[in-house]
Order: sequence, then C-alpha cells, then structure tokens
Amino acid sequence: MLDVLVRGARVIDPASGLDETADVWVVAGRVQRIAPRLDLPAERIEETRVVDGAGLWLVPGFFDMHVHLREPGEEYKETIATGTASAVSGGYAAVACMPNTNPVNDCAPVTEFILKRAEQAGSCTVFPVGAISKGLRGKELSEFGELRAAGAVAVTDDGRPVTDGRLMRRALEYARRFDLVVISHAEDLSLSEGGLMNEGAMSTRLGLRGIPWVAESAMVARDLMLAELTGSRIHIAHVSTEASVRLIREAKSRGVPVTAETAPHYFTLSDDVLSGFDTVYKVNPPLRSREDRKAVKEALADGTIDCIATDHAPHSLLEKDIEFEYAASGMIGLESAFPLVCGLVHEGVLTPGGAIAALTWNPARILDVPVGRLQEGAPATFTLVDPNAEYVIDADSFQSKSRNCPFHGRRVKGRVLLTAVEGKAAFVYRKP
Ligand SMILES: [Zn+2]
Repeated sequence: MLDVLVRGARVIDPASGLDETADVWVVAGRVQRIAPRLDLPAERIEETRVVDGAGLWLVPGFFDMHVHLREPGEEYKETIATGTASAVSGGYAAVACMPNTNPVNDCAPVTEFILKRAEQAGSCTVFPVGAISKGLRGKELSEFGELRAAGAVAVTDDGRPVTDGRLMRRALEYARRFDLVVISHAEDLSLSEGGLMNEGAMSTRLGLRGIPWVAESAMVARDLMLAELTGSRIHIAHVSTEASVRLIREAKSRGVPVTAETAPHYFTLSDDVLSGFDTVYKVNPPLRSREDRKAVKEALADGTIDCIATDHAPHSLLEKDIEFEYAASGMIGLESAFPLVCGLVHEGVLTPGGAIAALTWNPARILDVPVGRLQEGAPATFTLVDPNAEYVIDADSFQSKSRNCPFHGRRVKGRVLLTAVEGKAAFVYRKP
C-alpha cells in the first residue's frame, strides 16, 4: 500500500471544483489529507516517501467509458490482464468494456466472468457493459435486469447500430426501469455499407468507397428523438461529425437527456492521413474532414461533448497488415490518450480542469459509477502527470497486446508518471 506525500502539485478534482497547488498525503493506501501545506507528524516522516510535485498535476484516476478488452473470445488481440495493464499505463484507473466479445456479454454469466477475470488479473477497475440485443443481432432485447444485477453498468450493441427503431425505443423504455444508460453506436448501415473511409474529396482521390457523414448523423437524430419521446437517457458514442455535434447541441439546449463522447483520434486526425492507404488509420466511424475535427473540438470546449473515451480496439497484424479493403476497423488508444488530450490544453481548446473532467468525473457521472474523483479518507486512486514532458510515442513500449496505434512516432507533450488504483501503485513510469 502507498505511503506517500506529493508536495506542491497542481491538484485538480473537477467533482469538487478543486484546482490549486496543494500537498496530497497518502497513508496505507488511503488519502489522508489534501491541503496547501502539510506538515507530517514526526513519527510519520521516516516511512513516508516524499515526491516533489512541482510542475505536475495530481488528478483523479482516469475513467475510460469505452474500451474493447477482447476477452472472452479474442485473447490473441487483448485480454483483461493486458488491456487493464495498458489502461493503467495510460493513467486510467477504471474502464468500461463493450459487450462485443465472443460470447457476447448479453447475460449474467458473461458479465460475471468478466468481473471475475478483472478481479483475478486486472490492474484496474472494470465495469462491464451489457448488450442491448441478444447476440448483438438486433432482434430481441437481452435481459437488462439480469445484466444489471450481475454488474453491468450500461447497455449497447456497440460495433453495430440498433437498426430497428422500435427495438431501440423499447430498449430505452426498458433500460430506465433498471437505471441503465443506453449507449448508441450511431450508424445507418444502408448508408455506410461497403464504405472504407470518410466520403469526401480524399476518398474520391484515393478511389475508396466513402462513408458519408449522414450515416452517423441520421442515426444520431433518430436516437435523440427516441430519447426525447421516451424521456430515457441516451449516450452517443464516438461522435465524429459536425452534424452530430449540431444535433446534440440542439437537443441538449431543449433538455433532452443526452450525453456524448468522442475519441482522441477524432480531434487529432482527419482523413488526409489516409493518403498512404495505411490501415492503422482505418476506424469506424472513419476519420472525418478537417471541418468535422474542428467541430468536435468546439463541442468539447463548450460541453456539447461531455467526455473523451478511447474506443480502444485492439487488432492483431492478421487483421491489420492486409489490404485496406479487408483490414479490420479500430485503433488502440489507452496509452496515447493523455498526451493527445493534453495537446488540447496546450492548444488552448480546453482548460486543464476541462480536460481532466472529460477524463474523470464526466464519464463517471454518465454511467453513475463511483470513480473519477479525489476524496479524503477514500482509497487512493489518482494519476500523477507531467503536462509538459515532451517525447515521441513509442507503441513498442505499450502494455497492450496489439500495436494498431496511429500515433506511433508522433511527438507529444504530456506524460503519465504514476497511476494509483485503490491504494496501490498500478503503474510507475520508468525512464527507458
Ligand atoms: Zn462503436
């Protein structure tokens, strides 16, 4: 258990509104005190490690509400052990994992299996997300009550949309009874079918079939209206287009119970990177235009998009190192997210407090899970970062089993130094 005093770091806790230079004293794995200038009792001085926090931020452990851990079923891509090791090395103390495993997490035994594996082998807290429909087939609702009782915190068919509007309506009505948030993977398959990248000037130039922005945004519109109709909460996953942003902003202004997330690749990259046909950039929804990227940043700045999730989607070389047309969609994201989010702070898009809220308290509130804040007396779960450390991202150093990281070789600013989970140092950065 940690016994440490971090002196003089900028302590940011969006849940309590704290943002000031302070000392944080952890005793036997618990946060004893957070205060501007702490003097340790004489008998404590010897056993307490003192860390100079000058220039660093001490923040709640990050929470990623959208990851794919691939276990059960695709352990060659990632496991709960490697995925959570990847999480803590990226500063995350908790993740919510999507149900598109094999078998699908559409019933209590699978949810229980995930929680058991996380307990045995996990480096951080894992919240399973259950399937909306049995087998993700989009035909029949799974048993939300059973999933909730087993420990699922939300429902989604992520990876594919719920095409049948009536089924989505029933899911929203049913989910409310069990206090579950419905997470929408918004995609009109009839519009996106066969598409390999964003539809636009670049797809025309490359001769690749495009996925138009409307494939996402039309479905966002439907799901916002269903949320309005039912009064049930909806969360829009991986928002990537300007039109989706506009629709969500409008719905929020009228009080529709909607929240939204985007991923670092949507505010960092645009579809021009596809010019070399590199499959590492293939993802769904696809990387969009520069205008879309700008709209996503503005939406983060004004709170239209509530949080940043990675959509960490590990794939092996078998799925990625092949022709563009056949390559799988998805990128890993846990170990590159923080410097990219930090980049938004350096760019002036987000304040430090806004960036940390998008990684901690905001997603925790959306799923109503007890993470993402600093509290005296509670087990120490926090992340210590250096927002100004400059380096080049090296995916070969990642803990994830997969290497499909589009940011390998990118110069960034912002490093995770320590991730404490429930009183233990789950990750400590060591100079190579
Ligand atoms: Zn998705």
